[in-house]
Amino acid sequence: MNPSTLLSTQPTSANPLVAEKPLIISGPCSAETEQQVLDTCQRLAATGRVNMLRAGIWKPRTKPGLFEGIGTRGLPWLIKARELTGLPVAVEVATAKHVEDCLAFGVDVLWLGARTTVNPFSVQEVADALRGVAVPVLIKNPLNPDVELWTGAVERLHKVGVAHLGLIHRGFSSYGNTELRNAPMWHLPIEMKRRFPQLPILCDPSHIAGRRELLAGLAQQAADLDFDGLMIEAHQDPDQAWSDAAQQVTPERLAELLAGLTWRRETT
Ligand code: PEP
Ligand code: MN
Repeated sequence: MNPSTLLSTQPTSANPLVAEKPLIISGPCSAETEQQVLDTCQRLAATGRVNMLRAGIWKPRTKPGLFEGIGTRGLPWLIKARELTGLPVAVEVATAKHVEDCLAFGVDVLWLGARTTVNPFSVQEVADALRGVAVPVLIKNPLNPDVELWTGAVERLHKVGVAHLGLIHRGFSSYGNTELRNAPMWHLPIEMKRRFPQLPILCDPSHIAGRRELLAGLAQQAADLDFDGLMIEAHQDPDQAWSDAAQQVTPERLAELLAGLTWRRETT
C-alpha cells in the first residue's frame, strides 16, 4: 500500500481536526472531579485561544497503585463542559468499551495514547469498535521511535473507514533520566508528515517536556516546523493534579504561552 494515497482527509468545516490552524486542544491530564473539569475548561474557553477540550478518563499508568482515571462517570462532566463553553471535547480510548462509552455520551473526538499505538492488538480492537462510525480520531506516536508502528495504526483506522484522522507527536521514551521526559526526535514526525501530507499533525509538548518550564520552547519548535497545532495539558491548580502535575499549567499561563508563539501560517 502506498501510504501517500492512503488518506483523503479534506479540510472541511465538518472536520474539527482541520477547521482551524493552529488547532489548540487543552484540558487536564486527568478528569478528577466535576468542579475541576468545569473550572479548568471554562477558564480555558475564557482565554479565547483554545479550540477543543481534552481530559483523560481512563489513565494508562506505568505502575499500579496510582490514580487510574475516574472512568465513565467523568464523561458527563466533559459533556457539561462542552455545553458551558461551546467547545468540542476529546478523550483517550484504549479499548472497545472506552469507544462505546465515548460514543454513547457523544464525545466529539477520540485519541489513541502512546501505550495503545504501540500495541497492534489494542489498535485493532479500537478500530473494530469504530467501523462505520464518523468520529475523528487522533493517533499519538507509539512509545518507541518506530514510524512503521505509527503508520500501521493510521492504516488500521483508515481501513475501517475512520474519515478524519490526525497525528499527535508526544516524543519517545528511553532509559534513564533525561532533561526532557520523552525525546522529541523531530525527524520522526517530519517523516510522518511526508508520508501523510493530508493529515493534520499536532505536537504535545506536555508529554515531551515533563516540566512546565520547557513547554514554550517546544511549542515554538513545533510551530517553526509547521505543525498544525498543539495538544497541551492545563489544570486549575497544576501542583495538586492527580497525574502529570509537573508539566501542567494554569489556563491563564497557557494563554500567555500561546500568545508568545509565532506560527508559520497563522489564520487567527
Ligand atoms: C495523555 O495525553 O494524558 C497521555 C496519557 O499521553 P501519552 O499517551 O502521550 O502518554
Ligand atoms: Mn498526561
